[in-house]
Amino acid sequence: MTVNLLDFDAQGLAGFVTKLGEKPFRAKQLMHWVHRNGEADFAAMSDLAKSLREKLARTAVVAAPRVISDGTSEDGTRKWLLDAGNGNAVEAVFIPESSRGTLCVSTQAGCTLACRFCSTGKQGFNRNLTVAEIIGQLWQANRALGATPKGERAISNVVMMGMGEPLLNFDNVVPALRLMLDDHAYGLSRRRVTVSTSGIVPLIDRLRDECPVALTVSLHAPNDALRDRLMPINRKYPLRELLAACVRYLDRAPRDFITFEYVMLADVNDSERQARELVALLAGVPSKVNLIPFNPFPQAEFERSSHEAIQRFSDTLNKADIVTTTRRTRGDDIDAACGQLAGRVHDRSRRVIRVERAA
Ligand code: SAH
Ligand code: SF4
Repeated sequence: MTVNLLDFDAQGLAGFVTKLGEKPFRAKQLMHWVHRNGEADFAAMSDLAKSLREKLARTAVVAAPRVISDGTSEDGTRKWLLDAGNGNAVEAVFIPESSRGTLCVSTQAGCTLACRFCSTGKQGFNRNLTVAEIIGQLWQANRALGATPKGERAISNVVMMGMGEPLLNFDNVVPALRLMLDDHAYGLSRRRVTVSTSGIVPLIDRLRDECPVALTVSLHAPNDALRDRLMPINRKYPLRELLAACVRYLDRAPRDFITFEYVMLADVNDSERQARELVALLAGVPSKVNLIPFNPFPQAEFERSSHEAIQRFSDTLNKADIVTTTRRTRGDDIDAACGQLAGRVHDRSRRVIRVERAA
C-alpha cells in the first residue's frame, strides 16, 4: 500500500523509515527534502542512497491536496481552493503584510458547530481533514509563493482560522502543528502558530498538555444568553467554564495573554453596554481583544456594525486597559475574508443536534 509522507510527523516518519530497514536519521533527511525544500520527487533527493530512493518510489508518495483554483485579491491576499475528494473542497488563504506573511488553513471540510454568523457553519459538515491535507496546505503554499526578495520564506505565521473547528479534529491537527514547529520541517515558533477555537473546553486542556501554541478564542458575546444564540456550542461549554480553561491554558501558553475574537454584528453584540459587560467578564483573564467587522455572505442574517459602533466599542475596552485591535478586512473581493470561506461541502451530518441535546 502506498503511504503519503505528508501524513507523518517526525515520530511517524522515523517509524516508517525503520520499517523500511533504514536508520532513523534518514527520517530527518527526508523531512528536509519534503518540508523544507518542498520536494515531491524522490529521484531528486540526492543525498539519499539510490536503493532508498527506489524503495521510497515503490512505497510512498508526497501528495498535497490538488489545487482547483487560485485567486489573488486586489490587496494581495491569495486564496486557493483545494480538492478534498468526493466533491468537497476547502480553502487556504495567504495574507501578506509588511512585517509578516500569514497562512490561514482549514482543518475540516465544513463544521459541525453551526455558528449563526459563519458561512462555513451554514454549509454543514462532511469530514475531518487528514494530517496530509492540513500540512499539505502549508506545503503547497510555500511552493507556490517561493521566497521573499530577502530570501526568506513568504509564510512566517500560520493560523488555524479557515474552515472547521481545529480542536474537533485533534488527532490530525496536533501532528500537523508539530510539523509546523519542527526545526527539520517548517521551524515556526509556537508564538507564530495559532489555533482558533470556538471553545471546546476539555480539548483546550489537552492542547495545553500536548502542544501549547498561541490560542485564540472566538467569544463574540459578553454573556451566555446571547452566546447561546449565536454559537450553539456555548450551551455545552458556557462562558464561566470557557474562561477558566483559558486561564489554565496560560500556564503553558507561549504568550502571556489569550486573544479573544469578537465579530461585530450591528445591533446584536455591539452596544456600549455590551462592551462594559465584556470588560467585566474578562476581569482576571489576561486578554487581548480582536474585533472583526462581520463579513457578509449570501443568506447571512446579520449586518456589519457601523464604523462608529466599532470605534466606540473599541474605546470602551481600551479605556479599561484591554488591548484591542480591529481587524482590517482583507481579501473580501475574492470571498477570502474571515467567515466567508465556504469551499464546497457535501453535508453528511445531522449537525447542531449533538450540541442542542446538551442544552
Ligand atoms: N472554528 C474556529 C476557527 C475558524 S473560524 C473558530 O470558530 O474559532 C475563524 C474566525 O472567523 C472565528 O473567530 C470566527 O468566529 C470568525 N468568523 C466566522 N464567521 C465570520 C464572519 N461572517 N465575519 C467575520 N468573522 C467571522
Ligand atoms: Fe465552525 Fe468556527 Fe464557523 Fe463556528 S465560527 S461554525 S466553530 S468554523
